[in-house]
Amino acid sequence: MSNKLCSFCCEKEVIEEFSKVGQYNSPWDKVPASNGYCGEECLQNSEDSYYSDYAYQYCEGCSKNIIIRCPSNGWHEYFRYSKEHGQECLKCYQERLFKNGISEESLEKGTLEGSFFDDSDLEKEGFKKYDDYFVKGTTGAKAICLKALALINEGKKILVNYERLSILGDEGSISLWIK
Ligand SMILES: [Zn+2]
Ligand SMILES: [Zn+2]
Repeated sequence: MSNKLCSFCCEKEVIEEFSKVGQYNSPWDKVPASNGYCGEECLQNSEDSYYSDYAYQYCEGCSKNIIIRCPSNGWHEYFRYSKEHGQECLKCYQERLFKNGISEESLEKGTLEGSFFDDSDLEKEGFKKYDDYFVKGTTGAKAICLKALALINEGKKILVNYERLSILGDEGSISLWIK
């Protein structure tokens, strides 16, 4: 073994036993990150969101420990939380949306549950762009929710793609996709 340093404290050397811990730096990674720890405590801390936005967290969908926030751009959150589906990584969340579309319950509450998808991924999943919207405030969002609900009533599946959204999340461009 090398004398690699602990991925959490960066001080002590990695112990063999904690050298292959199965932590993934993105929900889409097939190979875990080459993280290693000096012991149980640093391993546990690395999976405790209290210490860092870049802690690793368990996805109940794919049973992997995945980093909470994208380490290369620093803002892209890799987890979604809901009562119904628990703690879900972005990949599981998006796959569920590809299959079912967004839920009527979330639209009835006036929230536009969506994600930053690649248009090409949506097309691959059989979705077509319905229209572009600029959302401003809750009244704007509500009108689009009503439109989306009407489309669901016609038997369509709906997805919301965030094209651009302000950091505050209260206004921005979105598009509706249907299948
Ligand atoms: Zn350590
Ligand atoms: Zn997952």
